Amino acid sequence: MSLHRDDQKTALAKTQALVTNRTVPAIFEAAFVFDDVFIRVDILERQPDDSWHLIECKSTTSAKEAHRWDVALQAYVLQGCGMNVHRHSVMHINREYRHGSVLSPDRFLRVTDVSSDIEGLSKEIPKHVQIMKRVLGAPHPPSVEPGAHCWQPYPCEFWAHCTKNKPAQWVGYLPDGERQIPKLVARGVRTFDQIPPGFSLSSMQQHAVQRKEWRSSHLPTVMKRLPYPIHYLHLETAWYGVPLFSGMKPYERVPFQWSLLRESEGGMVNWEDWVDLGRERAPVLAFLESLVGRLGTKGAIVVYSGAVLGTLKSLRQRLPRDSPHKPLVKELISRCVDVREIIRSKYYDPRIHHGVYDAIPRRDTSIRHIVEVLPDRHRYELLSTLDVEWASREYCNMVNQRASESVAHFREQVLARSHQAVRALYAVRQLLTVPAAGTRPSKVRTQGIR
Ligand code: SF4
Repeated sequence: MSLHRDDQKTALAKTQALVTNRTVPAIFEAAFVFDDVFIRVDILERQPDDSWHLIECKSTTSAKEAHRWDVALQAYVLQGCGMNVHRHSVMHINREYRHGSVLSPDRFLRVTDVSSDIEGLSKEIPKHVQIMKRVLGAPHPPSVEPGAHCWQPYPCEFWAHCTKNKPAQWVGYLPDGERQIPKLVARGVRTFDQIPPGFSLSSMQQHAVQRKEWRSSHLPTVMKRLPYPIHYLHLETAWYGVPLFSGMKPYERVPFQWSLLRESEGGMVNWEDWVDLGRERAPVLAFLESLVGRLGTKGAIVVYSGAVLGTLKSLRQRLPRDSPHKPLVKELISRCVDVREIIRSKYYDPRIHHGVYDAIPRRDTSIRHIVEVLPDRHRYELLSTLDVEWASREYCNMVNQRASESVAHFREQVLARSHQAVRALYAVRQLLTVPAAGTRPSKVRTQGIR
């Protein structure tokens, strides 16, 4: 019996009726309140001895620490309500599941018993509940500086709100500052100008503090070393908990599009694209075959961030041991140059989004956060307006036949955005190749660039 559509009051009353009705084997979204804490239990399963099994459902592929706390809080409320709960579990996706022609829920889902952990955590719950109540009852939100805690165990949805009034010189924006920021915050430093003299900063950080552009003296050598032909590569992939195609595992990436610009030593450029939006089978092999063929065996492959590299590495891993594509993909990976890593260590511009310089890229940073420093930045409109996960989301909707747009429109948008990403990569390379600060050409070569 599911109560997920009921309001709090109705759900509480219905739950009581269902709990006392011994013919009911399980309740979904059962509602309880104790000590002013209202909860909804994903699944409450009646046991043969009339005790209960509490099951918390998660879309992850394992039971995590944060889930155990979630279960412990629910167990605290259920105990307070006099419920006899003997077993506590987290139901999650089985990462080893391989999809057949239809979904097999018994194999797709796994139930991990966390009862032994809950006992210890439950003792901590009353203390945490009191703290939370104090915070909620206070007239003002607590004064907590945003920091690393905002990204663990999940990115906090209030990040934009909490940082909206931070000045550009906020210490939390110190590039590559994972190590220094906590130390500075502990010393009461809030902005760059409060950093004590003599505090150890890298060259890039010293320039960031002065909000000045900086180029490492090694940058020209690194850029000159890129072997021709230089390939600028962007690709789109989709991932989903329930495998999209037969033979796939949960969250395995489905690459469905690539765009490529090839630049010869003489400055000639040419474009190529590939896209497969078929719903019948995973386009993984077709993707690899087309890409390997077009990238050839020579020259650098310029990409942005670890996403492209991560996709190529995971595709290589998934290939059978004797696949002829396996060594070819390995060779492609060895030719990839991550332009974000070059920027992170050798180039600073105060207009670039601070997230680009983080050691661990946050989910909301992509090449669109660099377009501010590129000439003709109005040419990257789709890159700026469609979020990082847009293509994956739309592709999954299309495969699951829930898409609100037509396939033709989606195809057009994916290609247009992918072109903008590749064009941005090309422009970034040009920007980083400029010989010295102050001598940047006013016009970047755009002949042949769409
Ligand atoms: S972003 Fe979230 S975690 Fe970070 S300070 Fe704000 S509310 Fe707290």
